[in-house]
Amino acid sequence: MVGGQIALTYQVDNYPGFPDGITGPELVDLMKRQAEGFGAEFLEEEATGVILGSTPFGVLVDETEYQGRSVIIATGSKNRSLGLESEERLMGRGVFVCATCDALLYEGKRVVVVGGGDSAVQEALDLTRFAKEVYLVHRRDRLSACKCLTDRASQDEKIKFIWNTTVTEILGEKKVEGVRLSNQETGNVWTLECDGVLLAIGWIPNTEIFRGQLDVDERGYITSTNGVDTSRAGVYVCGDLNDRRYRQVVTACGSGCMAALEVERYLAEKG
Ligand SMILES: Cc1cc2nc3c(=O)[nH]c(=O)nc-3n(C[C@H](O)[C@H](O)[C@H](O)COP(=O)(O)OP(=O)(O)OC[C@H]3O[C@@H](n4cnc5c(N)ncnc54)[C@H](O)[C@@H]3O)c2cc1C
Repeated sequence: MVGGQIALTYQVDNYPGFPDGITGPELVDLMKRQAEGFGAEFLEEEATGVILGSTPFGVLVDETEYQGRSVIIATGSKNRSLGLESEERLMGRGVFVCATCDALLYEGKRVVVVGGGDSAVQEALDLTRFAKEVYLVHRRDRLSACKCLTDRASQDEKIKFIWNTTVTEILGEKKVEGVRLSNQETGNVWTLECDGVLLAIGWIPNTEIFRGQLDVDERGYITSTNGVDTSRAGVYVCGDLNDRRYRQVVTACGSGCMAALEVERYLAEKG
C-alpha cells in the first residue's frame, strides 16, 4: 500500500504547511501526485529479495528483477504488537503508538502506556502534558529505562505504575474503553477503564530482505554513516527504517531528501 504508516493515520497535525492538519490518506495522495509529476512510477508490489553485490543493483519481486544503478531503501518499521485481535481492530481508535502525534487527542483523559523501556517512559512523560492520568503497565517489577527518565517519571504525580502485569485484552467495540490486565505473579485479572492505549514495546525495522547483503546491527537496523549511507556505495537508507529516535513524517521526508541528494552525487561521480 502506498503511504505506509501515515496512510493508516486519521489526522496529521504536525507536518509543515498544513495549519489545520490533514488526514493521512490526503497527505499520501498529495505526495504521490507530486512524485508522479516528477516522473516517479509506483508499483504496488512486495520486494522479496535484493541483489546488491554488484551494479546494476537488483530488486526482486518474486521472479521479476528490477534493476537500478542506485537504490534507496525506505521500507519503514513496524511496532511490536501484543498479538491481540482487539489491538489491531482498535488501532487509530484509541490504540496508538506515538505520543508526539496523538497526545492532544487525550486531553483530560486516562491513558494506559504498555512498556517499560526508554520509549515507554518518554511517551508517558509526553502524555502527561495533556492526559489527566497515565498508567504505565510493565510486565516486570522495575523499569529498564535510563535513570534520568525513571526519576522524572517516578516524581510525576500523573504517572502511576502497574508492575508485573500484562495487557491481555483491549476492551471496546468502536473505540477503546478499557484494558483487561493480568498480574504475572498473583494471577489476579482485573479491568481498568481508559480512553487510550499507547503501545511502546519496541519497533522492528523491515530489513529482513537486506540481511546478508548489507551490514545490519544486532537489532536489525541497517548500519549507516552520515545518516543515509550504507555499507555499500550507491545504496542508501532513509525514514523510520533507520530511525530509532524521532519517527515522524517530517523526519522521514528529511532523510529521504538526504538520500536522494546522495544518489544524485553518486551517479554524477560515476558519470
Ligand atoms: C498510527 C500512527 C500514527 C502516526 N501519526 C503521525 C503523525 O501524526 N505525525 C507524524 O509526523 N508521524 C506520525 N506517525 C509516524 C509516521 O507515520 C512515520 O514516521 C512515517 O510514516 C515513516 O515513513 P517511512 O516511509 O519511513 O516508513 P513507513 O511509513 O513505515 O513506510 C514504509 C513502506 O514500505 C513498505 N514496505 C516494507 N517492506 C517492503 C517490501 N519488502 N517491499 C515493498 N514495500 C515494502 C511498507 O508497506 C510501507 O508502505 C504515525 C505512525 C502511526 C503508525
